[in-house]
Amino acid sequence: MCGIVGYIGPKNCVPIILEGLKRLEYRGYDSAGIAIVKDNTLFIEKRAGKVVDLVDRISSANGNLSAQLGMGHTRWATHGEPNDVNAHPHWDSKKEIAIIHNGIIENYLAIKTKLLREGHTFESATDTEVLAHLIEEIYKTTNDITKAVRLALVEVEGTYGLVVISSREPDKIIVARKGSPLIIGVGDG
Ligand code: GLU
Repeated sequence: MCGIVGYIGPKNCVPIILEGLKRLEYRGYDSAGIAIVKDNTLFIEKRAGKVVDLVDRISSANGNLSAQLGMGHTRWATHGEPNDVNAHPHWDSKKEIAIIHNGIIENYLAIKTKLLREGHTFESATDTEVLAHLIEEIYKTTNDITKAVRLALVEVEGTYGLVVISSREPDKIIVARKGSPLIIGVGDG
């Protein structure tokens, strides 16, 4: 069973997210990944394997990675084999939006077919990437990530716990749930 940790606030989110993922390891998973927004740019690192492999990769590739907004995932594959490409987070065509998702989008094929017709291309075999592109389409008109996620989820059948971040709106972390548990902790600042 997979897990998600997200953080927005004054501290560096990276150690908080990685520690959170380690605490979720007991649930079982096949891949791990992290997305952060820094200077209005989305940074994503993900891979099949253990959280410790992700930590190694982050420290060798990026040294002291630091940001105030981010999210991490431990994946339990349902759509697409466990590999680096299918690991979460997933993103939209412009790499402005990142999404992490637990659960299953049951009507993802119908949504994917529609998006393919509109010119979208997909890198992974996951149901989750389809949702990133659906949000992207709606975001073009709302220019508001909260509204875009809300409207996208109206089209979705299935179960989910999910987190979405946008490099254009680094002061927001969007969360939603249906059939999966979600806990929000609010601290000083
Ligand atoms: N259905 C998604 C996937 O296969 C999410 C899996 C999960 O809950 O970790 O990537």
